[in-house]
Amino acid sequence: MSDVEFIGTTKVYDDGTVALDALDLTVREGEFLVLLGPSGCGKSTALRLLAGLEDITRGEIRIGGSRVNDLPPGARGLGMVFQSYALYPHMTVRANLAFGLRRGRGDARVDAEEISARVEEAAELLDLHKWLEKKPRELSGGQQQRVAIGRALVRRPKVLLMDEPLSNLDAKLRNRMRFELRRLHEAHGTTTLYVTHDQVEAMTLADRVAILSEGRLQQSSKPLEAYHRPANSFVASFLGTPAMNLIEGAAKGGIFTAGELSFALPEHLAGRDGPGIFGIRPEDVRILDNGDSGGSPGDVPCRVGGVEHLGSDTVYHLEAGGNWIRALRRRTADQAQGTAGGQDREVRVSLAVPAALIFEE
Ligand code: ADP
Repeated sequence: MSDVEFIGTTKVYDDGTVALDALDLTVREGEFLVLLGPSGCGKSTALRLLAGLEDITRGEIRIGGSRVNDLPPGARGLGMVFQSYALYPHMTVRANLAFGLRRGRGDARVDAEEISARVEEAAELLDLHKWLEKKPRELSGGQQQRVAIGRALVRRPKVLLMDEPLSNLDAKLRNRMRFELRRLHEAHGTTTLYVTHDQVEAMTLADRVAILSEGRLQQSSKPLEAYHRPANSFVASFLGTPAMNLIEGAAKGGIFTAGELSFALPEHLAGRDGPGIFGIRPEDVRILDNGDSGGSPGDVPCRVGGVEHLGSDTVYHLEAGGNWIRALRRRTADQAQGTAGGQDREVRVSLAVPAALIFEE
């Protein structure tokens, strides 16, 4: 068994910083779980506690059902890949891959035949055959990172830990490696805990994503569920580019009011009363064409404050009763969608859409 359980796991550093606050989270056997959140939210701390590189202040961590709080790092059966590849520059790729296995003692000792078989297997999986006799400096950043991953895999870890492993690569390589990491996971199925602040990595790699803010778990769910049904306004604003529109105000009798802005709520939210945060993703804001028959109570008159042309997308920044609303228009094959025209135009948008949400916090 190689599931990982954080049970009320808390880390308070000596200076009083609560880096991780009573984390309850299970990474299931064979699962690829991504810990996601802004810088400083406690992701790396969670990983370091699991790896045994820091002491746990309260709570516990179990691997395969056994408490590991007091186990030294080397006895936890983990493989680790970090942002820096830290390969041995004077050794060939083959020797780098084999290094951890040669050092093994006792049960961890692996004979020469087995070492060579595992190196071959990793080279095959990671497409490193051509590079086995080269030194790291002869390899690109992406190839070096693949060697670093291979070095972790040859040890057959029960759990693979990765901390921002792609952040030193350029954008193109990052995209490719992301795809390869997912393929690799499907091939070897090792339980994986992956730390990143990059929502695209999280959305594309994760079986499940656990979102942290200020040391606290906000939501753990399938990535698309977190996107479509965020647990609170933090998750809502963290996932998605451009970010979800969040309008603070109050609902009463099917009408939402925020300052001078007032509009009818969509049917599924019409029963909500009291203060709340109305959330709508930019792609769900409907810009009504002048030709549309208008005047529905869900319509909001806006002024176009700015337009960003991003090629496939256009982002409109719309001002409505003292609130800013972002609307995203995706270019479609038939170009049938309406546009908001240029700066300072007056337009109407509809916010009364089925995908709209109201958050309490
Ligand atoms: P993340 O990986 O999400 O960027 P970290 O887990 O590294 O965040 O840090 C979480 C919080 O703990 C931050 O506020 C950070 O400043 C603090 N922190 C991390 N390491 C230490 C340390 N050794 N001593 C004191 N505070 C620390």
